[in-house]
Amino acid sequence: MDVDDLVQILAVDPLQLDPAPPWSPRMRGAIERLGATPKPCVACGAPARATRVVAIPGYGRRWIDRCRDHLIATTQRHGPPVAVGELLAVLEDAAHEARGELTIITDPLAVTARPQTGGNTRACWLQR
Ligand SMILES: [Zn+2]
Repeated sequence: MDVDDLVQILAVDPLQLDPAPPWSPRMRGAIERLGATPKPCVACGAPARATRVVAIPGYGRRWIDRCRDHLIATTQRHGPPVAVGELLAVLEDAAHEARGELTIITDPLAVTARPQTGGNTRACWLQR
């Protein structure tokens, strides 16, 4: 994720971010910054669990302190290594072999109640 995306997703004003040193702090520098009293998350104010130095064009090097949720929200993830159709086929085969039922819900937000699970029935959510 590039710096522009990071700043935009966190909705932060670069001027509000603490200036960072000209060197790149390693793990020890991050631990010292977070310390026993963590800095607040730059996006929501919750205690930061991670920190990073970024060079923001026009603003210089700045600390980006993030809470767990904002760290997750700004961590780039990759999709499954196989096509979704292939993944579904493997899940269906596994359910068949286990003589169970498989409910695949591709849009968990469209479900108003969680599917019942128990016995040989399992529910699986896939996000696209
Ligand atoms: Zn946060």
